Amino acid sequence: MGGLLSSPGELRPPVAASCACGRCQLLIHERPVLSFKCHCSTCLRFRSMKPLSSVEELDTHQPNVGLFRRSAVQIVSGEEALGSWHTRGSFPFFVGMDRRYCVACKTPGVVEYFRDCFYRTSFLGATCVYLGYVCPDAPELRDFDFHVASQSATPGAKKLMQHDGKRKFGLISGLLAIVAISFVPALRRLLLGSGSRQQVEKRTTLF
Ligand SMILES: [Zn+2]
Ligand SMILES: [Zn+2]
Repeated sequence: MGGLLSSPGELRPPVAASCACGRCQLLIHERPVLSFKCHCSTCLRFRSMKPLSSVEELDTHQPNVGLFRRSAVQIVSGEEALGSWHTRGSFPFFVGMDRRYCVACKTPGVVEYFRDCFYRTSFLGATCVYLGYVCPDAPELRDFDFHVASQSATPGAKKLMQHDGKRKFGLISGLLAIVAISFVPALRRLLLGSGSRQQVEKRTTLF
């Protein structure tokens, strides 16, 4: 059961993903409904727990985040290794997120859930995954659609995103775009233009 969101296409075979130490293993069964890089200060703080592979990493390696339909992401093992970090977005949406990370290796964003009843229900149980951290080499999941909170991007990130052809939203417009495209996929082209991730032709809606 995928919920009411339109299926963005199955991944066959599913893509295997894991935290850095391998304790937590995922299988991703579908393409994301949409994917983005978020430059907000909350995501930056969350990412800061990750051991850095270079001094520039926080500045220039914003992970691609996928928003998936409920049940598209399966935790195969290691759920008990996940810690939970609760965050609350700012005015006007106050989106509450339950952000899971591996306690052992500090990989942030193994999975993220909407925390409040209102948002959990609105997004029909959708789940976010930091694809850039848990399966950075999967070719099917490497591309992303747009930037969120682009004004608060760090200097290195701003430089990188300048010419990447992806649409740059602010925080509020980015959240609105996430809602709009999740529920009305036909808006994707209008809102994102040609920089959007390649879309799968065939769509099905499962209830
Ligand atoms: Zn780990
Ligand atoms: Zn963010």
